[in-house]
Amino acid sequence: MSNCTKLVKTDECTQTRDEGYNNCSQTRDEGYNSCQSNYYNDCHWYSPWNCVAGWFCSAWTWISNIVCVGWTWVSNVVCVAWKYIVQVVCVLIDAVVAVVAIIASVIDAIAGFIGGIVAFIVDIFTSIPIIGRLIDWVLGVAKTIVWAIASIPDLIGTLVGVMPEKKLRLIVLIQNDERGNPLIIDRTVLYRAIQFVINTYREQVNVRVVPVQIFHYASTFADEQVANDNYIASETRINTPDLIDVCCDTCEAGENLIDRGSQFNLKLSIVAFWGGARRLTGYGAPIVAFAVRSYKDGKAGCSLGPLTDFVTVKFQDSDQGTPAAQLTSDKSLGAITDLGHEVSHCCSLPHKTDGDNMMNPSPKRSGRMTVWQKMLIRSSRHVTYL
Ligand SMILES: [Zn+2]
Repeated sequence: MSNCTKLVKTDECTQTRDEGYNNCSQTRDEGYNSCQSNYYNDCHWYSPWNCVAGWFCSAWTWISNIVCVGWTWVSNVVCVAWKYIVQVVCVLIDAVVAVVAIIASVIDAIAGFIGGIVAFIVDIFTSIPIIGRLIDWVLGVAKTIVWAIASIPDLIGTLVGVMPEKKLRLIVLIQNDERGNPLIIDRTVLYRAIQFVINTYREQVNVRVVPVQIFHYASTFADEQVANDNYIASETRINTPDLIDVCCDTCEAGENLIDRGSQFNLKLSIVAFWGGARRLTGYGAPIVAFAVRSYKDGKAGCSLGPLTDFVTVKFQDSDQGTPAAQLTSDKSLGAITDLGHEVSHCCSLPHKTDGDNMMNPSPKRSGRMTVWQKMLIRSSRHVTYL
């Protein structure tokens, strides 16, 4: 069963139809009442004009009602037909993608290996403070623009509700502290944050959030993803505090151009090795979330948007009473949404001050997105068909 079909809601047509019929009946009854009070009540043998006018009034009300009911019926048929067309187009694209993705996953594995090596060499250059980092930013923006232009048909599809399944690759790296101990021991908080991204991206933009693995094939018709260790990487190195106690916004941008940006870029090269070819071209480049210990500015997560392929998050569990499967876009949730929020920044979404939206600057927030936000996400270079 394709997920496209679940996202297209035919009951919206039924609701509009029923409201339409109710409006028709209400207008009709008001019409007859007004004929009664304006004309029929004064219809006498000495004032025949009122009788004639009353008759016309009733006839007009009757015709208006027939037109109203007919129009509602036609609108409903068009509405339902349109929903079915959307579903058929969506499922057809899903089916084609499912077949092509098998070939793509083989090419991906070969290109992933060669690309991983080439990307590693490129990453050494883009890790050079200031000049290398600036080149990386420019490349990041250029790739974002190129793939956004290539996604114009998809933008139009999203606008009219045709959203065949796309994929987003995600890795969370648990960084170590100064003594070489992992910052996160109990991975439950990570599973829950990742599951929120999986659930929300499916519901809002029909995107399958997948891990970065060699020979990874996820059919568009496969079961839903479950957050597990495939999405999580760890490291053996010891980190200096500046890699785990970080900052946001201009501070982060400044640091990104020098030492911290260099080191994160090299970590990215290793942890997302199999996504190397994708990072080089930008198409389906994985997003890496570095788990950090603290923020000097009190934040809980940061992203430089399209400039880099990585974000930082201080993972904190919230909403422990909510089972992972129910961490969905329709609820008002706490810090467990931080990963999804930063990933969305990485897909070019800016803030939107609205607690009912994924891009509310701080929790509580839901995972909902506006049509424009959905269009931006689905045209991001991180969100692709193959
Ligand atoms: Zn934010």
